[in-house]
Amino acid sequence: MSWDGEVVAVCENGHEICVDFYYNDCLKICSECGGKVLKIFTFEYTNGDEVEDKANKRTKKELKSFVKNILKTSSKARAIHIAELEEQKKKFLDSISKTIANYDKRIETIKNMANHD
Ligand SMILES: [Zn+2]
Repeated sequence: MSWDGEVVAVCENGHEICVDFYYNDCLKICSECGGKVLKIFTFEYTNGDEVEDKANKRTKKELKSFVKNILKTSSKARAIHIAELEEQKKKFLDSISKTIANYDKRIETIKNMANHD
């Protein structure tokens, strides 16, 4: 049976990057920030059974606490993550503004229809 799974690399700034298992040997540098990759976490989906599921949940917990620890100890990592969240927030707000503008335009179009009766 072929191996099925996923590998997540964590860099010194706490980024979680999904990488192809077969190339993870090459992954030493974070694709997000250029930081050093500190640890690799492997998730397996080959069998899809309970044992695998439990192991994956454990790995997920380890991954989360590893990242949390980086954020606790590195002010640079915290600054990077805050900047990224600010950027995501801005993009989200921009997209909402566009959606609202689109509603306004549709409402305006319907209102204007009455003038031509
Ligand atoms: Zn990074």
